[in-house]
Amino acid sequence: MKDFLINQPILDELTKKGIAIRQLFDAHRIFAVNIMASPGAGKTSVILRTIESLKNIYNIAVIEGDVVELDVERVRKLGVPVVLAHTGGSCHLDSIMMEQALNNLDLEHIDIAIVENVGNLICPANFYLGTHKNVVIASVPEGDDKPYKYPSMFKGADIVLLNKCDYLGHEAFHLEYFEKGIHQLQQNIPIMPISAKTGEGFDGWIAWMNDSYRHHMQALGVDSS
Ligand code: MG
Ligand code: ZN
Repeated sequence: MKDFLINQPILDELTKKGIAIRQLFDAHRIFAVNIMASPGAGKTSVILRTIESLKNIYNIAVIEGDVVELDVERVRKLGVPVVLAHTGGSCHLDSIMMEQALNNLDLEHIDIAIVENVGNLICPANFYLGTHKNVVIASVPEGDDKPYKYPSMFKGADIVLLNKCDYLGHEAFHLEYFEKGIHQLQQNIPIMPISAKTGEGFDGWIAWMNDSYRHHMQALGVDSS
């Protein structure tokens, strides 16, 4: 979000719609995050464990950018509202797909909306969805060069999660090299190794979600304590 709107003095229709969605979220006091990653990085698994950790504190809803209901069913089993944002096979979500998905959610009773974008590290970065934070998930088996190959994705991130950290030490993955690639793009971004399988690192990530929610509500002038 942060660089994206600044770099775009003339707003196209999709971006305008994204801004309208943000206003809709804010009017309903919903904090929304956009989860982006390449296919197989473990987006849905991270989301499932995140819901387990947060669902007793917040009303959570999930928007799944996909063509099939597979991941929707996985989330639905946790008992939280989930809708498919049908991408029609597109390689990214856009604000029109988001708007259609949001029509199928009861916005009155949501505190946090989690958007699972399409598995792709290139173009999802270029489509503003109205979400407040960009979460980029990389994973150890994918290799340590992702920030160098996909700089615009990592430049727009508010936090980077490095999933499957239980593979660190087993794969040729150099954490310092990975982190250096991100810090060349952004000095102060949090980078958190996590494992959706073992739960390692989730304390930090969940604390980041809690802090971000609280700060966002403060910025909106809402007492969330
Ligand atoms: Mg998924
Ligand atoms: Zn695309």
